[in-house]
Amino acid sequence: MDVANVVVDVPVAQTNRMFDYRIPEYLQHAVFPGMRVIVPFGPRKIMGYVLEVTDHSDIDKLKPIESIMDVTPVLTKELLELGKWVAHHTISFYISTFQAMLPQALKASYEKQVQRLNDILPEKLEMIFAGRDVISFQEFEEAGVYQALQRAVQVGDVEIIYQVHSKETVKKQTYVKPMLEPLELEAVLADLPQQAKKKKAIIHFFQQHNKPIQKKELLEKLHTTQSTVKQLIDQGILKQEMVETYRDPYQNENIKRTQPLPLTSQQQDAMNAVVDTLDQTKHQTFLLHGVTGSGKTEVYLQAIHHCLTKGKEAIVLVPEIALTPQMVNRFKGRFGSKVAVMHSALSKGERFDEWRKVQRKEVQVVVGARSAIFAPFEQIGLIIIDEEHETSYKQEEHPRYHARDVAIQRAKYHYCPVILGSATPALESYARAKKGVYQLLSMPERMNNAKMPEVELIDMRDELHAGNRSMFSRQLKEAIEERLARKEQTVLFLNRRGYSTFVMCRDCGHVMTCPHCDIALTYHRKNQKLKCHYCNYEENMPDTCPSCESDTIRYFGTGTQKVEEALQEMIPEANIIRMDVDTTRRKGSHERLLRQFGNQQADILLGTQMIAKGLDFPNVTLVGVLAADSLLNLPDFRASEKTFQLLTQVSGRAGRHQLPGEVIIQTYTPEHYSVELASTYDYEAFFEKEMLIRKTYQYPPYYYLTLVTVSHPNQIKVMEVTKMISLLLRKHLSDDVRILGPTASPVARIKDRYRYQCMVKYKNEPNQREILRKILAYFEDEMRKDELLIQIDLQPY
Ligand code: ADP
Ligand code: ZN
Ligand code: ZN
Repeated sequence: MDVANVVVDVPVAQTNRMFDYRIPEYLQHAVFPGMRVIVPFGPRKIMGYVLEVTDHSDIDKLKPIESIMDVTPVLTKELLELGKWVAHHTISFYISTFQAMLPQALKASYEKQVQRLNDILPEKLEMIFAGRDVISFQEFEEAGVYQALQRAVQVGDVEIIYQVHSKETVKKQTYVKPMLEPLELEAVLADLPQQAKKKKAIIHFFQQHNKPIQKKELLEKLHTTQSTVKQLIDQGILKQEMVETYRDPYQNENIKRTQPLPLTSQQQDAMNAVVDTLDQTKHQTFLLHGVTGSGKTEVYLQAIHHCLTKGKEAIVLVPEIALTPQMVNRFKGRFGSKVAVMHSALSKGERFDEWRKVQRKEVQVVVGARSAIFAPFEQIGLIIIDEEHETSYKQEEHPRYHARDVAIQRAKYHYCPVILGSATPALESYARAKKGVYQLLSMPERMNNAKMPEVELIDMRDELHAGNRSMFSRQLKEAIEERLARKEQTVLFLNRRGYSTFVMCRDCGHVMTCPHCDIALTYHRKNQKLKCHYCNYEENMPDTCPSCESDTIRYFGTGTQKVEEALQEMIPEANIIRMDVDTTRRKGSHERLLRQFGNQQADILLGTQMIAKGLDFPNVTLVGVLAADSLLNLPDFRASEKTFQLLTQVSGRAGRHQLPGEVIIQTYTPEHYSVELASTYDYEAFFEKEMLIRKTYQYPPYYYLTLVTVSHPNQIKVMEVTKMISLLLRKHLSDDVRILGPTASPVARIKDRYRYQCMVKYKNEPNQREILRKILAYFEDEMRKDELLIQIDLQPY
């Protein structure tokens, strides 16, 4: 008997239990590990992934697999193992991990239906069924005859079933192809009467072009009509067929091909180290520490080229926000159609198609955001993570994996190198490089002897004392005006978090907060609404204070729009492009705005985080940072690190080419070491200083952290459970572990659920996962029946 071991599409138990199913006769030799199947589960039918196929089971009476959803497995053997590893590593369910590894289009959707079991049904039901055997439950709901339905289910007249659909769709297009050989076409041509000009043109075309062509293209090319083509089809000369095509988001981009550049010696050294490892089929993680503009990307490109010549494949991860057309084009420009692109700005269908190109081995390079690390390649020769310090490589929902860990795990499996590249490596990574776990490759020089731009720190307190109350210092204003006069460009950066706007009453200090979350509502100027960024709750801006009825209720803080207005008022002749979540919501608007700026249709690009990365505009000679401190004030032990990284990153946008650059950073704390050391680009000094602080306060990379967050609508319940968890942890973990909490989470209530947390700080705790899993198992029933939620993050960011 053939048995399939299946992970089903419901989170069953922390133990990640799997279920055995019998493989029925007609599916023998058709079921393989990594395939999606439909299996009976309780009263329903659900999707599952086959993990293994064996010839025995400990269970006697096995239910059979209902059907298969794939002809070839969607998960390779390696990815199945990897998925299990990720689930163990992050304490997640197998099912959520497998789903995170695949494009969304491959998720199953479930439709509730009513099936007839009896030939004759009560009249009421018969009317709804209207002769059919199965109808969707929705039709029933619309008819609203629940009682009749209930009775029919009880007496066995009908049954509620769940249909499983796969969501993926394949795009097809009409193609036309010749049915005859060129010589036979010649004969047809000769037989056609003089006046059949259009037909002649078509046949002539296929004599030259003896392969299928898209019908639309044929009609346009030859200025011919549907009916002419149809006549030829009817005569058996041509044939029409539906051909699967890819939805290609980049098909209209005109991408220039580029050639490898002769490498500088620092690039060559880095390249050699990677290539040697690749050639020896060895695993090694490299940390490529290169200042912005040192030519890291060119090293990536040439290392990938080498990888391809070895017949192997490469994965490149880029932060979501940096996946601009500029970045994508650098890879497409070098490797053309060998590249697939995977990120969330693509439509579901496009993502599915890009994934299939990988699965079918039609491409050898994937450039993508975090989840592209799961690309189903089978011959990986190189994995690159650009801007490896970026926090977006950590997934903040189940499964809470870090792409860096997954990359290294895959590279070990494939015996291949990993390159982690950054101008400002994560402290963890640099510490590992210093210890020799990673091999450090340094590129301290910018390309073409370009200097890092001069950085000037402006103390905004001095501005205040001098009577300047504007958000722009006098130096920044002057510098922008100079650029305008010289027809050069300026990039102005503001940190989104520092620029949210809240509404407060000036009389009594009442702040408008979300009724469902413990957080201030944000004012949206466009539609005069107050919005919660956690739960999307929305209300109108009040005219008077709900607390004291005073009419002095105002919004505070500085939104990007407000900055734009102030800037425009200060320098009326400037053309400004604003880039933030509001102006880039529509698909393609991000690209359009950048293109406009690149074409010098604007003098100033004003934006949030999304302009900090990867932009390379030769004419930008000034970068201004409006408030460097806004990140520093976050309650996060990584605040200084993030500030240093961001400031360095932003500064790197100026003076990348012939023209020298200048950076002006406005701050209220110029003496803070992150700000000061960023202004001199002194990563090494920053690293030493920050490591000392982390050691003193027992933070990573000296100590590891685990964050346990408990939430429930009842506050007492949350406190009790969190308390209990912290006691259990204290009891079972070793003595030198520190447990902080329970305390209320930074946002103590979200969507009407109270949130408490406790934090584990430890050096080495091999049993930790086991203990945490047991704790979860202990609360399992409550989590399923009650609304209790316990989240575990083994590497909180
Ligand atoms: P990074 O990725 O380190 O910020 P880039 O790879 O973007 O740096 O390189 C900066 C600039 O230098 C780019 O315009 C790139 O085309 C150019 N460049 C890189 N390598 C070379 C080289 N070997 N010779 C000439 N120009 C180069
Ligand atoms: Zn008030
Ligand atoms: Zn809310």
